[in-house]
Amino acid sequence: MPPERTCVGCKAKRDQTELLRLVCAASGEVVFDHTGRAPGRGTYVCCDARCFRRAFKSPRLTSVFQRAVVVPTLDAACGTILSSLYDRLGGCLSIAQRAGGLVSGYMSLRRACSRSRVVYMVVAEDAAAQRAAEYRVWCAEQEIPYITLFTKEELGRRIGKTSRSAVGLLNPHFRVSFCATLTLLQTFEASLDFL
Ligand SMILES: [Zn+2]
Repeated sequence: MPPERTCVGCKAKRDQTELLRLVCAASGEVVFDHTGRAPGRGTYVCCDARCFRRAFKSPRLTSVFQRAVVVPTLDAACGTILSSLYDRLGGCLSIAQRAGGLVSGYMSLRRACSRSRVVYMVVAEDAAAQRAAEYRVWCAEQEIPYITLFTKEELGRRIGKTSRSAVGLLNPHFRVSFCATLTLLQTFEASLDFL
């Protein structure tokens, strides 16, 4: 089990994997520690824009870091987290590709789906409507969960290839890490509506 940590914004206790880590740079600037392993004293915040707002407004960060701190603007912090989460999702695909746990290209994807090897599918936002509909039929037939995410060009770039209209994950392990990050992203995006 991952250790529990407390959100500096709302004070809720959560698994460390569900929280974002904040560290204080030498300049006093509070920044997100995207790796979760940056040295120095850190504190945690929920992946929720409302918790960012509470954390940045309160004197809590000053007392956590025991020094005067400079906090990012809420807009900047939200932008940073969104791009970092999209990056992490792309990173999951890239790792899966390198490990032989990803299939792409129409024919390969069709073959893998028909052999029940695909455990999760990512369909590009700008995939041709007819092609996207075909992917959805395959997913429905094989009960494969899927998400529409990234452009064709981004999807291809993430796996070191030319543009791809869809990719399939072949290993439940990769699906778990991809979906964990996706949940964080969706939770975070939903929280923006409450600002
Ligand atoms: Zn919180």
